[in-house]
Amino acid sequence: MDYQSILDRVHAAVKPIIGTGSVASYIPELAKVAANQFGIAMVDLNGNVYQAGAADTPFSIQSISKLFALTLAFHQEGDSIWSRVGREPSGTPFNSLVQLEQERGKPRNPFINAGALVVTDMLLTHYASEGGAGNALIKFIRKLANNDDISYDRAVAASEQGTSHRNAAMANFMKSFGNLNHNVNDVIETYCRNCAIEMSCVDLARAVTFLANHGAVPWSDEKILDASSAKRINALMLTCGTYDAAGDFAFRVGLPAKSGVGDGIVALIPGECGICVWSPALEESGNSYAGSVALEMLTSISGRSVF
Ligand code: GLU
Repeated sequence: MDYQSILDRVHAAVKPIIGTGSVASYIPELAKVAANQFGIAMVDLNGNVYQAGAADTPFSIQSISKLFALTLAFHQEGDSIWSRVGREPSGTPFNSLVQLEQERGKPRNPFINAGALVVTDMLLTHYASEGGAGNALIKFIRKLANNDDISYDRAVAASEQGTSHRNAAMANFMKSFGNLNHNVNDVIETYCRNCAIEMSCVDLARAVTFLANHGAVPWSDEKILDASSAKRINALMLTCGTYDAAGDFAFRVGLPAKSGVGDGIVALIPGECGICVWSPALEESGNSYAGSVALEMLTSISGRSVF
């Protein structure tokens, strides 16, 4: 498969729509990101990198951090995590509080904000003595992406923390049901810091290759998750990874994926490669508009999907 020529074709085809949509403005720092940018990268299981556009430009990974946080928590706790967070699509916006009351503080899945706050709480338990859960997640991501320069943007973290009223409401609500062990402020601070991690498309495409390789990092063979756990994370990405548009995304793209309001989407082709596309701005669902179209084209042209 000539991935490079596919990416070049996709890049050329999406040029006219780059910048369509609106950048997230509820986090003030994110509103400053210039639209009209586009990058795409694929990293195969032999470590070959294919890229087009601004694939080396770091951007705010936002909710894509939920994928790595979940992986780390799952690695630590195994199946017991499902007693505190579900695995069904929510059918509601990522920051909705509506289901939490009816479902007694147990979030529908780990990729909505409420679920990610519970996962962050788990990490705070496991990494209390290793410089904190935020450091542990960055260390983990650096290893997966093979890049020690990855860090988080303090201005974005502070900007989100200053406007995290909804996240704080969810965290307090879950604490009232006994589904949060740590102090709400500590959970929010770590969560915001994780969302503010910056990575490029190449970093992210490389960082998810273990999910395309039965849970093992392809270049080191390090087992991050066993094959069955990796399969479960992929299933969650497919059903819950792209906000309230996961059904449409599966229909159009047909790959496990996770998106974020920082305009990036990671995806993977099992047995082949990790993929990341980044392009401000977002469609209404919260997914990058040009990014979604690019992934749809990529799977159509290549004929690759999980179906
Ligand atoms: N930090 C964002 C929030 O909590 C993440 C949202 C997202 O990317 O989906 O609102």
